[in-house]
Amino acid sequence: VAEPFTVLVDTINNLQRSVSGARRLFEVMDMAEEDTRAGTVLEAGAPAIRYENIGFHYTEGAETLRNLSFTIPAGKSLALVGPSGAGKSTIVKLLYRFYDPQQGRIQVNDRPLQTYAIHSIRERMALVSQDIYLFDGTVAANIEVGKPGASRDEIIRAAKLAQAYAFIELLPNGMDSEIGERGIKLSHGQKQRLSIARAILRDASLLILDEPTSALDVETEASFQRDLGEWASGCTKIIIAHRLSTIRDADYIVFLEHGEAVEFGTAEELLRMNGRFRSYWEKQGREIGEEQSVV
Ligand code: ADP
Ligand code: MG
Repeated sequence: VAEPFTVLVDTINNLQRSVSGARRLFEVMDMAEEDTRAGTVLEAGAPAIRYENIGFHYTEGAETLRNLSFTIPAGKSLALVGPSGAGKSTIVKLLYRFYDPQQGRIQVNDRPLQTYAIHSIRERMALVSQDIYLFDGTVAANIEVGKPGASRDEIIRAAKLAQAYAFIELLPNGMDSEIGERGIKLSHGQKQRLSIARAILRDASLLILDEPTSALDVETEASFQRDLGEWASGCTKIIIAHRLSTIRDADYIVFLEHGEAVEFGTAEELLRMNGRFRSYWEKQGREIGEEQSVV
């Protein structure tokens, strides 16, 4: 299997300035492995997810995840916290079936992940990450990628919930403004909000946030958090973030080090535990000047 993220980046570089180009992008994502439509279709609604004794390595002898177990009940949120390189993004890649674990298994609604059609899992997932893929085209077309064929009203609603509509309205042609190489240059925060709008439009039941607000200012980040409660309330959520403000509302936290879950609980429980999570968070808080107001 080719490294899917590389395939994805290459595809984006070759994308044409059109929505059909964007549609192709998702097809390529979905076709990264053969036979993505074979298997059970994931039922509607927020799925329950369980990682059971997962062991995974990219290369023989270099374990990336070790004996990792956790459960996310349907509709709940789990924050993955830990130093860079701990294995957080890898955990998510396993859910996308970009890789399969060498040990243990992932259960979705009490069935092994491998028994589902890969396509049916991926189409129910929305990813907001620090890497944002925008193509040359209009703002509307870039949001529409989340749900090809969406109406203008749906696109506007998603943009509003993503806190993107205010700046879009100020662009010379609003939603129809061209962005990218030959168009308007957007700030990283604006791009990030477009990618959030995309995810909202996708109407997914499994939401993955991989450091989604790292480029947003604290105020925008706070309103993103408030709105997340609204548009993502029906989703099962995995949140990877450094800011405590992003993770403190998560139902559960897994603190990871070297691919191992060293602590598990709510933010409050982990802070009271006075262990690895707490010292990590205090260090982070000092670095980014964040208020430590939870305790
Ligand atoms: P995190 O998201 O917590 O920063 P990652 O899951 O990205 O951590 O990476 C965990 C470990 O796996 C790191 O040591 C990283 O270098 C390694 N890794 C990540 N992706 C690959 C890959 N495609 N091939 C080999 N090693 C990888
Ligand atoms: Mg990562």
